[in-house]
Amino acid sequence: MSSRFWRNVTLKPDAFDQKPSDGLRFSIQVLPGHVDLIRMCSVSLDNGVLLQVGRSMRGDVHMLHRYRHIAIAMLIAAFLPASLIGWLLSRRAMSGVVRVADTAQRVKQGDLSQRVKVSGRGDEVDLLADSFNTMIERIQVLLAEWKEVSNNIAHDLRSPITRIRGLAETVAADHQDPATMEWAGSVIEECDRLMGIINTMLEIAETESGTHTPMLVPVDMGQLVSDAYDLFRPMAEDKGVRLEYEGAGSSVLVPAETARMQRVVANLIDNAIKYTPGGGHVQLSLRQTPDHVELEVDDTGIGLSEEDCSRIFDRFYRADPSRSTPGNGLGLSLALAIAQAYGGEISVASAAGKGSTFTLRLPLFQNDVKS
Ligand code: ADP
Repeated sequence: MSSRFWRNVTLKPDAFDQKPSDGLRFSIQVLPGHVDLIRMCSVSLDNGVLLQVGRSMRGDVHMLHRYRHIAIAMLIAAFLPASLIGWLLSRRAMSGVVRVADTAQRVKQGDLSQRVKVSGRGDEVDLLADSFNTMIERIQVLLAEWKEVSNNIAHDLRSPITRIRGLAETVAADHQDPATMEWAGSVIEECDRLMGIINTMLEIAETESGTHTPMLVPVDMGQLVSDAYDLFRPMAEDKGVRLEYEGAGSSVLVPAETARMQRVVANLIDNAIKYTPGGGHVQLSLRQTPDHVELEVDDTGIGLSEEDCSRIFDRFYRADPSRSTPGNGLGLSLALAIAQAYGGEISVASAAGKGSTFTLRLPLFQNDVKS
């Protein structure tokens, strides 16, 4: 085809993509007024005629476009199942870690009997679960040993303290001078305080281990809380704390022992008044649910941090802000041990500086409860 037919085509030297060889020159051009690319070959003949042969690249361009579409479609088609498989694999791997974390959370809340289920696949998560279980078992054994040792110590301390108290009483009776009597009086006081702590420790141990067999009788919580309210109102008034009680409206029976239940309720109310500064408010509310009774002791006192909330039921634990207030950190441990022995629970919700809500939850008395 001569330039006569493709008149508009100007051959610029830089349009060639290959160096002339044997006089042939190749180029890719766009013809004015056309959209398609043209691959062109030109050669100058001896007689001065320029011979140009061209072929439209429409087919090649079309094919390239199709390849691109196919590649994108394949990419999308591969991406979806690959992400799904990736997600499933990571979920499977993570589920083991989540199991360990869940168990650790329950252990943190004080339940040392929790163990992570080992899948038996022998993978890294199984190894982690196994090590975690071994560690918890060890802690449980150490804790049991520590409790046993401290209970033995408490038990063994009772006799010498009783003897010291007896001696102080004799000294107080035999000597009339005020200094000796004062000395003997403070020894007796300290001995009584120590005996109180020791007896509470032993009572907690006995209740937790189940060696104390409770003589359960139907106890009317409405009456018991109302009596406690009457008992604590003067103390609250003296401190300038407003104590209020909202009863359940009728008698609410729980299977318990009256004296021990009184100690639980008294401890919660006493704490609420003790840790609420003058001008504050303590609200007692008794509610009955279909199978439980709930006593809520809500105060506007000093409150507790999240960390304190998880530890206040431990023996001897006292939160920092309350250390200046008299106490020994055993009241709540005993209250919880008693509540649990009756199939109940004590929970706490609190915010530091804002106040606390302690909830005692006990199962209702059923006629078939054995005493
Ligand atoms: P105690 O009151 O003799 O220290 P408890 O076992 O009754 O011992 O309470 C343990 C700790 O829990 C207290 O030392 C105190 O830090 C915290 N606590 C208990 N009740 C409250 C409350 N209502 N408000 C703030 N802190 C409380």
